[in-house]
Amino acid sequence: MIPDEDFIQIKEVPGPTKEEIRCLVMCKAQISSDDTVVDVGCGSGGLTLESAQRAGKVIALDKNPEAIDITRKNLEKHGYSSEIQLMEGDALVIIEALHSFDVLIVGGSGGDLPLIIKQGYEKLKKNGRIVITSILLETRVEAVNALKKMRMTPDVVEVNIAKGKLTERGTMMMGRNPITIISAVKDLKYPVGID
Ligand code: SAH
Repeated sequence: MIPDEDFIQIKEVPGPTKEEIRCLVMCKAQISSDDTVVDVGCGSGGLTLESAQRAGKVIALDKNPEAIDITRKNLEKHGYSSEIQLMEGDALVIIEALHSFDVLIVGGSGGDLPLIIKQGYEKLKKNGRIVITSILLETRVEAVNALKKMRMTPDVVEVNIAKGKLTERGTMMMGRNPITIISAVKDLKYPVGID
């Protein structure tokens, strides 16, 4: 994993997703070297760079041109192994025009999450994965409901992390914002008897 402080950051663009969260997102995304990954709302490129180190191809998109610029700079700073495509624009418009892919990561949706999940589901290959990171309560509920509507089984993990900060008196544990990681695999059978 790339340390947080090794990313170029500007205040106008959120991210990078914190290292320990990136770790869990990668764990759920199960990226392999022939996979194509779509990173929706690439922000500072936190999840784009981690995906680029693991996938065959990455398509990173963001509606904010500054996010595309910072992601490009971070990719250049770190070097990357896979083919990367950076696209500026709205998630729904770009996904509509894409071919199929193996992994959909959603780090930002601007209120369009249910539609992004529906569109993503249709373009996901067999056994493809969707992984959503959410800081808002409403987004979590939307994500779970939208995945269930597609007959996917949501895996929901709420992460509360405290990191140690060295002080003169000792290592002080500093709490970070809770984040929820919601993920699902396309062809996992939906449990019987649950609606
Ligand atoms: N995962 C990123 C941080 C994501 S921040 C990282 O690790 O660096 C969320 C981003 O989603 C923002 O940059 C925002 O511009 C983008 N975004 C939100 N809604 C969007 C939409 N509908 N289409 C494209 N990008 C979107």
